[in-house]
Amino acid sequence: LNHNLFVALRAAFPADLDATAIETETGLLYSWRDLDRATAMLANLLGSLEIPAGSRVAVHVEKSVEALLLYLATLRAGFVYLPLNTAYQQAELDYFIGNAEPAVVVCAGRNFPWISKLAFGKGVAHVFTLNEDRTGTLLDRAAHFPETHVPAVKSADDLAAILYTSGTTGRSKGAMLSHGNLLSNAQVLKDFWDWQPGDVLIHALPIFHVHGLFVASHGALLNGSKMLWLSKFDPRAVVERLPRATVFMGVPTLYVRLLQEPGLTREACAHMRLFISGSAPLLIETFRDWQERTGHTILERYGMSETAMLTSNPCRPADGERLGGTVGPALPGVGVRVVDDAFAPLPAGEIGHVQVRGPNVFSGYWRMPEKTAEEFTADGWFKTGDVGSFNAQGWLTIVGRSKDLIITGGYNVYPAEIEGYLNDLPGVAESAVVGVPHPDFGEAVIAVIVPKPGATPDADALVAALKSQIANYKVPKRAFIVAELPRNAMGKVQKNLLRDGHQGLFS
Ligand code: ATP
Ligand code: MG
Repeated sequence: LNHNLFVALRAAFPADLDATAIETETGLLYSWRDLDRATAMLANLLGSLEIPAGSRVAVHVEKSVEALLLYLATLRAGFVYLPLNTAYQQAELDYFIGNAEPAVVVCAGRNFPWISKLAFGKGVAHVFTLNEDRTGTLLDRAAHFPETHVPAVKSADDLAAILYTSGTTGRSKGAMLSHGNLLSNAQVLKDFWDWQPGDVLIHALPIFHVHGLFVASHGALLNGSKMLWLSKFDPRAVVERLPRATVFMGVPTLYVRLLQEPGLTREACAHMRLFISGSAPLLIETFRDWQERTGHTILERYGMSETAMLTSNPCRPADGERLGGTVGPALPGVGVRVVDDAFAPLPAGEIGHVQVRGPNVFSGYWRMPEKTAEEFTADGWFKTGDVGSFNAQGWLTIVGRSKDLIITGGYNVYPAEIEGYLNDLPGVAESAVVGVPHPDFGEAVIAVIVPKPGATPDADALVAALKSQIANYKVPKRAFIVAELPRNAMGKVQKNLLRDGHQGLFS
């Protein structure tokens, strides 16, 4: 049996191969037959390069349908896909290409001069270009290859992709994901999210990350569903497409920006079946505002590069109501436990480390055997680095990352709790709470606050308002008003930058 993920995705293509698989914002239509032929040609090209099995294909290009086809072709040919965030520049690429040692690098034509120099210097044999407008040497070369291709035979454990984590807590690590990891998760989500015949996905996420590349693309492909493709997120363009779509996936910041779009109404969303959020915590305000504005309840789920999706709020009404502030129960087949420092499971309501296992969990970090060993327990659970608790029903709430936990004067402070109180105060749009070194307390709690548009809250007054609500050790010792929080490409708040920026505050 061939466990190549591409084989499963190809088998889900609809019978009518002339139907539209992808429609771009410029009105280009790709049929399922186009997908099949183009991935065959690209796979044949890759196969002709005489690179060894297990070779990495590193891709640093803007989002395009062709980039997605290159991903599928890499699977089809049996090589390992390695997408790189297009924001990465010289220093980062130097690290990633040096670390991953790809056999093939694909980059934008305008970056060819420096990326090819860097890649050839590190022994990469092949560098191709691929531009957003369907030009470049990759497609030029692929055009000479046959339109049919027999997918490479893969076992479930064979590597399909290396996904570098978002680097929110430090240097990105390459998560090694197998064909089996990715397919098992895609199949579970197809069922749990109740993908229907006729579903249409608005694809507005980047495709160098687990959310856009795996969760969104696999979801549509495995259901034979059409994608309305946006190469960049544009709230207006999303709203315009809602009446022709049924499923949307976004990171929380996308929902915040969509709420600022006047065209977002109940009417505009009437045809939609499902709005899914993940990759970072969804503020309860956003969850409620969305309900009020659109009549739809956002489904929040939780996952990571190393594991794909782990938990999800229910989709079918029979499975229960979606609960804001939680990420739902463990997905079928996925094990999730909340444990204390000695890894003993904790009862509902108690906060501890989130650990997971299942067919979706990666085999380790690329070329980091020690880090890999550190992050798995002796009995095979992966330490997510997140902290959370179960409610009585077994639904998970993430309260933050263990690295962001603050210990002040011996007390644990969970930033998400304090942020929740701050966000409820008048004039506050959002906030981030971090710990910085303090000579007496070890760490001191500080808050960085973004005001609502037009509001001018006073930082000290906000802190004073918290004093009557929560224990004194939890109250920020200092607060700062800022225009926006530092975020990385996935919209995640970079708390390390906030900590670094306020390092010397109390010393
Ligand atoms: P790095 O591991 O390099 O520091 P990262 O953890 O941000 O970066 P990703 O794999 O992209 O890299 O993100 C996974 C993390 O995102 C999870 O561990 C969790 O902290 C966070 N996350 C994902 N979904 C949710 C969610 N629904 N609610 C809260 N946090 C979430
Ligand atoms: Mg992480």
